[in-house]
Amino acid sequence: MECEICGKKRGLVRAVVEDTVIYVCEDCASFGKKIAEPRPITKREETPIEDILIDPSYATIVRLKREALNMKIEELAKKINERVSTIKRIEQGRMHLDAKTAKKLEKVFGIKLIMDYEKK
Ligand SMILES: [Zn+2]
Repeated sequence: MECEICGKKRGLVRAVVEDTVIYVCEDCASFGKKIAEPRPITKREETPIEDILIDPSYATIVRLKREALNMKIEELAKKINERVSTIKRIEQGRMHLDAKTAKKLEKVFGIKLIMDYEKK
């Protein structure tokens, strides 16, 4: 492993440079913000993939809730940072709702879409 900025191979530290965590040498660390090394890099722990059970009526729930709030699809898309086409597909029940999007919708509308979690 070497410094991702200058290529030096010694005294590497972890630093956040332009919102990305990279390994740099002590000299280059001044370009960003040094952060502590929590554990060996090779053992990066991934969040376990969650199998979620989404309310089968999610499409209707989302649409009704949005309409009740008089919110345009465009507004909702902006609020949860998704494409308008994605929202349309969700409301038509043509898109598998993933945990991330479901959580965002739950938060915006104060509803419950995720019925259960199954840790893999
Ligand atoms: Zn360097």
